[in-house]
Amino acid sequence: MPMDLLGRGLRDLRISVTDRCNFRCRYCMPVEVFGPGYAFMPREELLTFEEIVGLTRIMVPLGIEKIRLTGGEPLLRRGLEDLVAMLAAVDGVKDIAITTNGVLLAHHAEALALAGLSRVTVSLDALDAGIFSKMNGVGAKVERVLAGISSAQAFGLPVKVNAVIQRGVNEGEILPLARWAKSTGVDLRYIEYMDVGETNGWKLDEVVSGDEILAALAEEFELVPRAAAYRGEVAAHWTHADGPAEVGVIRSVTKPFCRDCQRLRLSADGKIFTCLFAAEGHDLRGILRSGANPEILTEVVRSIWTVRTDRYSEERGQVDRPRAEMSYLGG
Ligand code: SAM
Ligand code: SF4
Ligand code: SF4
Repeated sequence: MPMDLLGRGLRDLRISVTDRCNFRCRYCMPVEVFGPGYAFMPREELLTFEEIVGLTRIMVPLGIEKIRLTGGEPLLRRGLEDLVAMLAAVDGVKDIAITTNGVLLAHHAEALALAGLSRVTVSLDALDAGIFSKMNGVGAKVERVLAGISSAQAFGLPVKVNAVIQRGVNEGEILPLARWAKSTGVDLRYIEYMDVGETNGWKLDEVVSGDEILAALAEEFELVPRAAAYRGEVAAHWTHADGPAEVGVIRSVTKPFCRDCQRLRLSADGKIFTCLFAAEGHDLRGILRSGANPEILTEVVRSIWTVRTDRYSEERGQVDRPRAEMSYLGG
């Protein structure tokens, strides 16, 4: 298995299936930038499902065993269930997850479960109708996301919820989200607001740190720490002393975890990115469409991984370089 220059193996592959989204969360796709005139990728630029599966196959021998489908909003990609079924049939793929805003999940949960999806992560930043509607930028209703979560659970899919907390926007939702998650048995992870891309106008003082979030939780809940389940688990976790649900914090800003980062991202147009904060990817689609055989593609990925030195979150503030948008390279 290849190691990068900081001794990190390759284990997780995040596949972006579209750069489009039906939300306009300010921290990700602010509407002033991603407005009606925004040029999303033309269809022919997108990897086909066969190409995505072909690239996954060539990465399994390098260590990939976990896949996450993301975007943009992955449920906007027509036939996503078929892709899940195709990936589930790849030898060596042990886990297939999806990250979604959840608004279309109720329509897809059964088909996704039948196709072999292992789990779902739903992004939900607020339960308050007004805050949720404002944060998603399009007035989407929180009930639809909650219905999506219930539907996924009903079809046997384990659900985790991710909440990005931004100061002045939704820090008042920390406790309501925790109460709701505990009562519904959903694992909840709070994410520190990050400086992804170049359009969200990120400011450090808008980051609510993981420690602040934990302090707020400690006022109401008795939480017991649990050890990391595997190397590279990005969230630090706690369980409720009186219930099974877990609470986690992803402290990418205040406690970066680059030294264990085993993730590779594949953008919807077939570029691989070795870091969420990279400016440029490496074009695999061009090599694939030129007719290269799988062995060559495996060697290309191996050679990219073995020279990897990314550790942006640990260098934050010391380096200033361009960053691709998260909706494009895959969150
Ligand atoms: N549209 C899907 C969704 O929202 O779940 C998948 C793609 S989205 C880019 C993936 C995750 O990135 C979401 O959980 C979202 O909240 C998170 N995210 C986006 N922008 C972020 C930011 N600036 N800081 C922290 N997390 C962010
Ligand atoms: Fe869309 Fe997800 Fe970005 Fe929100 S976070 S704009 S739902 S891609
Ligand atoms: Fe991995 Fe880059 Fe995030 Fe560090 S900043 S954890 S290297 S994706």
